[in-house]
Amino acid sequence: MKISILGNNSALPAHDRYPTCQIVNIEETYIMVDCGEAAQVLLKKHGISWHKIRHIFISHLHGDHYFGLPGLLNSMSLLGRTEALNLYAPAPLMPLMQQILNVADTVLSYPLQFIPLPDGIATIADNSLFSLSCFPVEHRIFCQGLLITEKAKSRKLLPERCSYYEIPAAYYKQLKAGQDYTGKDGFVVQNEWVTEMGKPEKRYAYCADTLYTESFLPQIMNVDLLYHESTYLENDAERASSRYHSTAKQAARLAQKANAQQLILGHYSSKYKSTLEFEQEARSIFASSFASKEGDIFEI
Ligand SMILES: [Zn+2]
Ligand SMILES: [Zn+2]
Repeated sequence: MKISILGNNSALPAHDRYPTCQIVNIEETYIMVDCGEAAQVLLKKHGISWHKIRHIFISHLHGDHYFGLPGLLNSMSLLGRTEALNLYAPAPLMPLMQQILNVADTVLSYPLQFIPLPDGIATIADNSLFSLSCFPVEHRIFCQGLLITEKAKSRKLLPERCSYYEIPAAYYKQLKAGQDYTGKDGFVVQNEWVTEMGKPEKRYAYCADTLYTESFLPQIMNVDLLYHESTYLENDAERASSRYHSTAKQAARLAQKANAQQLILGHYSSKYKSTLEFEQEARSIFASSFASKEGDIFEI
């Protein structure tokens, strides 16, 4: 799983940083996570193919998380997209989008499947490659976090070993599932002699926008990578909580409690020119903290 950071700022574009937008790549299926105003420009700038975006998740309806969407949906249509696009977002977004399309007499060239985000913890997508689950975070308006789980792969066959033990191809499926093979003479070929471990499950949790809370800790425990918004530095902690946002230190504290492997910070207030101090403050609590920059790719 690769997570590309496109927009990493809060509401106002500033210091060459733009509102929130990320692309999660799982075996060349792309999931867009929030769609801030500059999404199209940043996709183009970083050479990310729009055609591979099959899913778009919108956490909440503050403009810095979806104002890029009408333009992106429209451009996909202009480019003649035919593949279906799944849009997971708070329910009021769909009539809004429909109205924007209606007034321009636009009919999209592809099916747009709208999946309203439920209130609470829920699985919103599940296929052989990954699952998407949402969970409530605490913001001024209805806002959902997202957990992306790339599923574990079955065991990998070692073809030379399989033919050495004369295992029929019809039995390969069971081998991949971890079973041993017993030949006609009763000789047992142990699974680990002819296969190797497949890729383990990977989990990425996205928590924006939210104030510091441990209410969703069970949903993000032991994740490989945690994104947690950090709009402010610690000396603005009061402002952070009054506006339902977090500080870098709070994000780090949660990453530590969640036993996450790594933490990405973002959604910086435009009052900060540099993001260096965000990383420093977070690292004083949780060493594997990174202040995300546009164009960063985190691989897990
Ligand atoms: Zn925001
Ligand atoms: Zn917000």
